[in-house]
Amino acid sequence: MADKQYKQLGCLDVQPSGGCGFQVRAETEAELMQLVATHAKQCHKLDSIPQEMAAKVKAAIKTVPVTV
Ligand SMILES: [Zn+2]
Repeated sequence: MADKQYKQLGCLDVQPSGGCGFQVRAETEAELMQLVATHAKQCHKLDSIPQEMAAKVKAAIKTVPVTV
């Protein structure tokens, strides 16, 4: 058994009002940001993530241990 560290983020963590139940997990922050950008585009009609929101996203990222 090995523990892996994953980055986890919920849409509601970034937008307590207006967010949705979307949750994402990725191995790296870069990967997570990409998934978040895709989600923002598909579900919230944001063509790109504003800098202010990107900062919120980064602040809301939690590192969670995952046992593989
Ligand atoms: Zn959402």
